[in-house]
Amino acid sequence: MRKAPQHVLVIGGGIIGLSIAYRLATRGAHVTLVDRGIPGHECTWAAGGMLAPTCEGEVADRALVALGYDSLHRYHAWVSELESLTGLDCCLGSGETLLVATDHDERGQTEHMARLITNKGGHVERLHLDDARAMAPLLTPRLTLAYRVQGDRWIEPRALCQALVEALHRMNVDVRENHEATCQDFVMADAVVLACGAWHDLLKHSPSDSPFTLAGEVDTPTFVRAGCGRVGGGANGHFSLGIRPIRGQTVHLTGASLLNHVVRTPRVYLVPRRDGVVIGATSEEQGFDRTSPAGGVYELLRYGIQTVPALYELHFSEVAVGFRSATKDHMPVLDKVPQSSIYVATGHYRDGILLAPASADHMAEMIMTGEKPDAIEPFSWRAQ
Ligand SMILES: Cc1cc2nc3c(=O)[nH]c(=O)nc-3n(C[C@H](O)[C@H](O)[C@H](O)COP(=O)(O)OP(=O)(O)OC[C@H]3O[C@@H](n4cnc5c(N)ncnc54)[C@H](O)[C@@H]3O)c2cc1C
Repeated sequence: MRKAPQHVLVIGGGIIGLSIAYRLATRGAHVTLVDRGIPGHECTWAAGGMLAPTCEGEVADRALVALGYDSLHRYHAWVSELESLTGLDCCLGSGETLLVATDHDERGQTEHMARLITNKGGHVERLHLDDARAMAPLLTPRLTLAYRVQGDRWIEPRALCQALVEALHRMNVDVRENHEATCQDFVMADAVVLACGAWHDLLKHSPSDSPFTLAGEVDTPTFVRAGCGRVGGGANGHFSLGIRPIRGQTVHLTGASLLNHVVRTPRVYLVPRRDGVVIGATSEEQGFDRTSPAGGVYELLRYGIQTVPALYELHFSEVAVGFRSATKDHMPVLDKVPQSSIYVATGHYRDGILLAPASADHMAEMIMTGEKPDAIEPFSWRAQ
């Protein structure tokens, strides 16, 4: 009979690695989490925090939408669990998504977005403009069309990460910041989870004392150190999944809580914060360039203020830059590398905040029992 792993090493402390580490710890595993920076401070730091299974992207993959709803339905209980363990507020909002057109030009695209959401299985209700204003009184007087997307929520990703890190400390998880995984980390673990987001494909270029060099730079499928078995995935035993970074910028404004609902137009979205609003988001393929072109920031501010003019009075606080992890088909990978004890949870692209609780629960189930849940069957290992 298969024994559940005793000690699991999680590499990467974004929302995905943190959530998996937490769920593994609650299921009795001894967990170490390493991040080469500060946990939660990469892509997760820039995220808006929309929990909206049907609003993001043109792709209408049924399995992904189903995983999104699966995750959304887990959110309330998961957040309550974290809040009662840590005493911290994860700032889970109760508002839904309002889809609006703020001028004549946006009408057609807004109708198209509403159709797309319906095709994906979302529930969209056309609103009388007075009802939209009752939900978000500071919306522009120039509003021409409004829909409500039922069931969507939002959360503050930074508050959620803070609670997750605190929960890991309370569960005695060994959290190592500013720490790149070493061979010694690997030796002590009998299962490893790779949750490095957009940096996944760079693992094979890690320094020579890293286990990933062994996996990536020899011709034959390679041996990873004690307990982890043999890496057979990919023609050369590489971990490569063809992941590319998609840069995204969000503008953070503070000073007052102006919204309770996410407001989306074809050009921008506005996500509420306890003390302000986040305007998102750009989408650029510029590798790992962390600069913020002024044009993108200008457009976010311009269309954000066009949608809710009162944003003009808030304080400019920050432009956050994050790198979304995109696979070729824009679907995540939630699986085990064949013939190894290495697990992969990456490629969450635009939906990692939404997908965190379901990804964590299903990955922990697979790692602890050896059985892969049906819900993540469509997100299997697809080495390049
Ligand atoms: C502008 C923007 C807005 C977004 N808005 C939303 C939204 O509203 N809703 C939503 O659901 N999603 C949203 N997303 C997507 C979401 O932010 C991501 O899908 C999610 O944060 C991915 O989490 P992650 O843990 O995989 O990656 P990350 O948060 O990037 O974490 C990866 C971690 O791995 C660490 N790491 C990498 N390599 C190594 C290594 N070799 N050793 C140790 N550590 C390593 C990094 O330091 C990093 O901390 C948005 C993204 C962006 C950019």
